[in-house]
Amino acid sequence: MEQAAPEISVVIPVFNEEPNLRELHARIVSVLGELGRSFEVVAVDDGSTDGSLALLRELRAGDPRLRIVCLARNFGQSPALYAGFAHVRGDIVAMLDADLQNPPEELPKLIAKIDEGYDFVSGWRQDRKDTFLRTIPSRMLNYFVKKTTRAQFHDVGCSIKAFRREVIDLMAKFTHRSRYLPVDVAWLGVRTAEVVVRHEPRGAGTSKYGLFKLFRTAFDLVTSVTAAPLQFFSLLGWVFAISGFGVGLRVAYWRYTRGDLNYMGTVTALMFLMFGVQLIATGLMCEYISRIYIEVQNRPYYIVKEVVE
Ligand code: UDP
Ligand code: MG
Repeated sequence: MEQAAPEISVVIPVFNEEPNLRELHARIVSVLGELGRSFEVVAVDDGSTDGSLALLRELRAGDPRLRIVCLARNFGQSPALYAGFAHVRGDIVAMLDADLQNPPEELPKLIAKIDEGYDFVSGWRQDRKDTFLRTIPSRMLNYFVKKTTRAQFHDVGCSIKAFRREVIDLMAKFTHRSRYLPVDVAWLGVRTAEVVVRHEPRGAGTSKYGLFKLFRTAFDLVTSVTAAPLQFFSLLGWVFAISGFGVGLRVAYWRYTRGDLNYMGTVTALMFLMFGVQLIATGLMCEYISRIYIEVQNRPYYIVKEVVE
C-alpha cells in the first residue's frame, strides 16, 4: 500500500553500485530520520548488470520508504535522474550519487537552505577527492559554463543538490534531449544558493566516466548550451572573404600602376574569395540550423514568477 506523500524525496541514480548501496541506504535513513521529517528514497536503476537491482529490492522489502524505478537499459546518469524526478512525491527533492562520494550527512544543510526560501541549492566540493584526470575536464567545464550560460555556480558538476518541488515540475515541461541540469535550472530564473559540502573518494567500484565519456559529455554540453561553434564558421568566412578582397585590390593596383599581371596573386585572391563565400554560406546555414535547434528545444517562452493583483 502507498503511504501518504512524504515531505522529502531523495533521488539516486544507480549504475552498478551494488557494494555501496547497503551503506548508502543506512546512512540516508539515519540522517533523514534524525531530521524527524517524512521522506522517501527514489533509487533509479539505470540498467545495472551487477546485483544492484536485486539488492535494492531486498532493501525495499525491509523499508517501504525506498522506491525503485527501473530503466529498461543503461541510459546515462542524467536520464536516470529525470526518470527519478518524474516519480518523486515530496515537496523538497534532493539528489546525490550512489557511490558514497556525496556523504548523505550533508543533506540536512541543503534542505535547511530550501527551508530558508531558496528554490535550488547546489553542493560545492571545495576539496574534491577525485583523480587529476577526472578534475581537470571538470575545471574546464566549470569555466566554460560560467562564461557562456546563466549557471553561475562554482561547481556545476557536483551531484548533491536540492530543489523545491516547483522547480522539478517546471523542468518536467522541458522537452529538449541534451540536458544539463544546472543550466536548465539557472535558465528558469529561480532563487539559487550554494553550500560547501564534503566530498569523499568513491566507495567501491570505479568512476563510470572514462576519458572518452567525459569528452563526449563535455561536447554535448557545449553544443547544447550555445550556438557559438556554429557561428564561428561565418566569422571565419568573413576573414577569408575580406583577405581575398584585399589581395584582389592589390593585384588590381599593380596592374594599373606597373602594368604587370600577377597570376599568383590573382589565384590567391580568387581562392580566398571563394573560400570566404563558401564559409559564409555554410555559416548562414548553421545560423538557420541553430534556430531550428533552439525551436525544437521547445522551452517555454517565459516563466512567470508571480502575478500581483
Ligand atoms: N550513473 C548512472 N548511469 C550511468 C553512469 C553513472 O546512473 O550511465 C550514476 C552512478 O551510479 C553514480 C552517479 O551516476 O551514482 C555518478 O557516477 P560516477 O560516480 O561514476 O561519476 P563521477 O563521480 O566520476 O563523476
Ligand atoms: Mg562518483
